[in-house]
Amino acid sequence: MQQVLVLNASYEPLNVCTLRRAHVLVFKGKAEVVERLDQPLRSASTTFPWPHVIRLVTYVQVPRVASLKNSRRALFARDGWRCVYCGEGGVRLTLDHVVPRSRGGDSVWENVVTSCAPCNLRKGNRLLGEAAMVLRKAPKPPAPALFIRLAAPRVPTAWQPYLAAFAAAA
Ligand SMILES: [Zn+2]
Repeated sequence: MQQVLVLNASYEPLNVCTLRRAHVLVFKGKAEVVERLDQPLRSASTTFPWPHVIRLVTYVQVPRVASLKNSRRALFARDGWRCVYCGEGGVRLTLDHVVPRSRGGDSVWENVVTSCAPCNLRKGNRLLGEAAMVLRKAPKPPAPALFIRLAAPRVPTAWQPYLAAFAAAA
């Protein structure tokens, strides 16, 4: 299915939608076409530009912290599919609460990291200091662009500049 990149009014990438949804947004005047594909879409009576990237006319407030629920892949992707403690990749990855739940740690982006099974086991129920372990990178909420990359495994070339601009800023 053809996917369309949706930008906020600020040009920040928001999400990915279907061609049908993009048409509805443009038709209703809620979005404008920023990039189009060369071939027009034909219906019985008329032709439409084929939207590839659209931009919302009105800025929408996005919750900066997307819920961690069902975001296992996003969390692994944020950490580059590597253990944040030893840097090991290509191993069985688990999720670790930096401050363990039993010690009051929350299930939020800032407290959950990708860990290999051995590091997770070694750390156990301890705090970083107690386990003498360090994070190679401080965990933070991922930019929306990360979710777009996950939703569209093959990111079209025309989307790249929009994603790159905000990946650097995030
Ligand atoms: Zn590890």
